[in-house]
Amino acid sequence: MAEPVKVKGLVIRQVNFGDYDKMLTLLTAEFGKISVSAKGVRSMKSKNRAASELLCFGEFVLNPPKGDVYSLSSAECIESFYHLRDDCVRLALGIYMADLAGHLAPEDMGMGLKILLNCLYMLQDEEKDINLLKIIYDLKILKESGFEPRVSSCVSCETEEGPFAFSPVQGGVLCRRCASLLGLKAEGTRAASFMDYIIKAPFVSGLFKTEVDEPTLKKATAYTESFIACHVAEHMKTLDYFKKLVKMQ
Ligand SMILES: [Zn+2]
Repeated sequence: MAEPVKVKGLVIRQVNFGDYDKMLTLLTAEFGKISVSAKGVRSMKSKNRAASELLCFGEFVLNPPKGDVYSLSSAECIESFYHLRDDCVRLALGIYMADLAGHLAPEDMGMGLKILLNCLYMLQDEEKDINLLKIIYDLKILKESGFEPRVSSCVSCETEEGPFAFSPVQGGVLCRRCASLLGLKAEGTRAASFMDYIIKAPFVSGLFKTEVDEPTLKKATAYTESFIACHVAEHMKTLDYFKKLVKMQ
């Protein structure tokens, strides 16, 4: 009989079943995205309770899978992102980030997991602007998954000369001439240059000090969200919920 395996991973989704059980989705560096049946973890007495919470990063001992589903033997929490739980907006953004990683299942899982963990650490820091953090995460995880929008040159004729329109269906920016052929209006270059900068810059905490004006950040966010809706997941409830909370603030 195959031996249990030990993996480090982040709980990116959870669904309750039975009286005390959960089905967890873990993002791991070794095996990518996996499903884990976690029996009894909703019981107050379970020692695996804390590590089986959404957004917990932990070390999991798993019994070999039946079909595609592993079963949990034991779990130890390494980082619970406890401070996120004090702020419902930041928590909602963290849950959305995990959900997006689950939809993308980045090709290089190690790097995808690293980006997600880094952004969750940053998210706990109240000084960090959540809108800036969100677009950095979105574009970096898209890039890591091989899905990033093309924003440095026109997707149709390859000119690097703006102004540009953004077309989610075409997968990036269109120059004035190509945009007008599709009935779109070119809107400037700042949002596209800002997105290009994020996509190309190395992923370091310095990126979070980027200065950007509000209208550019808003436009780049709208472009990125329309791209995700078109190519990754048409409708993400976790994104709707985050936006609803932001509006209520
Ligand atoms: Zn063009």
